[in-house]
Parts: sequence; structure tokens; C-alpha cells
Amino acid sequence: MGTLEHHCYRFSIAEEGGKMKRFLYVALGTMILLCGCGRNSASETVSRQYVDVAMGTVVRQVVYCSEEAAAEAFSGRAMELLEELEGELLSWRLENSQVYSVNASGGNEEGVRLSEELAEILRQCLKLYGDSEGAFDVTMGSAVRLWNIDQWAAGQQEGEFELPDPQELKQTLEICGSGRLKLGEGEAPVLYLPEGMQLDLGAVGKGLALTELLGLLEKESRITGAVISVGGSVLTYGSKPDGSSWRVGIPDPADTSSSVGILSLEGQWCVSTSGDYERYAEVDGVRYHHILDPATGYPADSGVRSVTVLTREGLIGDGLSTACFILGPRKGMELAGKYGAEVLFVLEDGKIVMSEGMEKTYFQRQ
Ligand code: AMP
Ligand code: MG
Repeated sequence: MGTLEHHCYRFSIAEEGGKMKRFLYVALGTMILLCGCGRNSASETVSRQYVDVAMGTVVRQVVYCSEEAAAEAFSGRAMELLEELEGELLSWRLENSQVYSVNASGGNEEGVRLSEELAEILRQCLKLYGDSEGAFDVTMGSAVRLWNIDQWAAGQQEGEFELPDPQELKQTLEICGSGRLKLGEGEAPVLYLPEGMQLDLGAVGKGLALTELLGLLEKESRITGAVISVGGSVLTYGSKPDGSSWRVGIPDPADTSSSVGILSLEGQWCVSTSGDYERYAEVDGVRYHHILDPATGYPADSGVRSVTVLTREGLIGDGLSTACFILGPRKGMELAGKYGAEVLFVLEDGKIVMSEGMEKTYFQRQ
């Protein structure tokens, strides 16, 4: 068997419908189609594929490596890293995470000490809050919890989906707002979280994970190429033994089992997609998805079904895809341009709008 060739990676397919069982079902189906070990006779590079679940989503790794055992060891370390990231830093649910401690500190006048890592994440999120004119806001945690769409879509809640009470939503929105967050920059960073405010780093977590995984890849010289997807965020790294480009599929929101096109990429990139098909609930034929517009408290309604952002760095790419989804194509394109990112919008009517670089260099229509 020759080196495994994947002509197109449609990484977000597994999240359709959002149910974890479906994640696994589709992930396994994909694994059956693609799994195996290939060996390139010229370079003796083996390729291995691993599918697992972390950070509440499917993680798929395709690793090209000169030694099978090294690929195996890498994939295990990668999963451990993702679990640590979720359990010790990002989760709002797990008591040992830094975000959990921060959220428990609301109203505390002395504030809460932050690790440099979390402080740096928040600095970048606050910058994106300003640059997006408040559309991207990691202090929307209480509103996100009130909607509860993520848990609903993940099948973690029984019964019918209920819309939040408008009055309660209005009151909850009043306690949100990154403008009210104070980050003290003395000898050690301290965060002052207003009473009731809750951080939610769901919009950047997977992108951050890509950056961390890149660090891990760079430490393993036997790995010459890899594509790793964490939900809707995809990292490409190095090259394939035959020198052909990485091909990352952009799911068609109207039918996520197919794609609107592919990105053809050389070397290291981060591709982040935010879409209304990833996590949602339907009431009376109306789709309520998981990306909230801080101006209204309701799921963003900017005429967009999905946004794909291409960057070198994961956290910014992930943050931008969420921000651009809320802002819509005109303002979103401007914002992405400010960060030197390429961007592609799939609109409600199926039209595709994209940045010049995306169109000229990376995107190929299906
Ligand atoms: P993504 O899939 O990267 O676009 O992130 C969506 C997640 O970000 C949601 O599930 C929420 O946890 C969180 N979120 C929702 N609305 C916002 C917003 N306006 N700003 C920042 N994060 C948000
Ligand atoms: Mg995002």
C-alpha cells in the first residue's frame, strides 16, 4: 500500500447535528474509509491517521513520520495536551481550570491572579473586542449559558429546547461586556471580573489548541508533515512525501457532507470555520445557533451561514471566524484584512464572498 492519499479533508462533517453519538459515528465511518498505515517507498515516510474526541469535539490527526512508533507517541501526547488545555485552562465547567476559578471570582475587589498564558489570551481577545466594535466578546458567558445551545446540541440536555425569557436575556446582557473587564498589569497580571460576569473562551479554544499542537509538532523532528483538525479548526504542517499541497475542504452549510470548495495550502496554516450548522437547536422551523450577537443577545443574523478564516496563528484565526460571522461580509472582510487574514463567507443564499488573496491563491471551487 502506498502512502495514504486524502484528496480532501472535510473536517467539519462530523459535527453536523452536534450530537456526540453522531460525532463518533461519522468519525468512525470516516476512519474506516481513510484509516490505515501507508509507507512511501522512496522516503520511507509512514502516514498514520488517528480519530478521537477531546474538547467536546472530534480530533482527527494525519501524521507523516519516518517512524511509526514516533507518530503513535505524538498522537497520544497531542490528545493529552488537548485534555490538559481544556481541564486546566479553558473549561467553564471543570473545577480545576483557570477559567472556572476566574468565573468564581466575580465581584471580588482584590481580583484574581492570572497565569501569563491566560493573561496573554485575554489581551488578544480584548484587542479583538475593540477591533470588532464589540461583536467578539468573551464575557458573553452568562448569555451563552442562558441559551445553553452547546449542551443542547451535544445531547447533554433532555426534553424540548426552550428559548430564553426575553426579560431575563436583557438582564443577562447587562452584566456582559469586555469593556467592563479590568486587567491589571502590575508585577503579575490580575483580573477584576464584575459580579455575575462569566468568561467563555469557546470562540478561541480550538484555535489556541492548534497553536499548542504546532509547538508539539515542532519538537518532533521525525514528523515531516501533519494535518490535525479540532472540530472546525484545522492545522496544516510541513509537507507530504510526494510534495503535493494540503487540501482542506470547506463544508457546504446547506449539505455538510459535501464542500463548497477546497483550500490548497503549502506548509503551515490554520484554517478556522464558524458556521450556523455546527451547534444549533430548532424551534418552529427557526434555527437558533451558538454564535450570539452581543448587541441583541440573540444568535447573530448577518446573512452568513459560515465563515472560514486562513491565518498562520490559531487563536486569532478562530477569534476572527467567530467575529466575522457576527459582523457579516462587509465589516468582517475589513476586520480580517486588518489582521492580514484571508476570509471566505458562505452567505444564506449560497453565494460565496471572499478576500482577494483567498480567491487568487488558495480557494478552488468544487
Ligand atoms: P466558534 O465556533 O469558534 O465560532 O465559537 C462559538 C462559541 O463562542 C460559542 O459556542 C460560545 O461559546 C462562544 N461565543 C458565542 N457568541 C460569542 C461572541 N459574540 N463572542 C465571543 N464568543 C462567543
Ligand atoms: Mg472561533
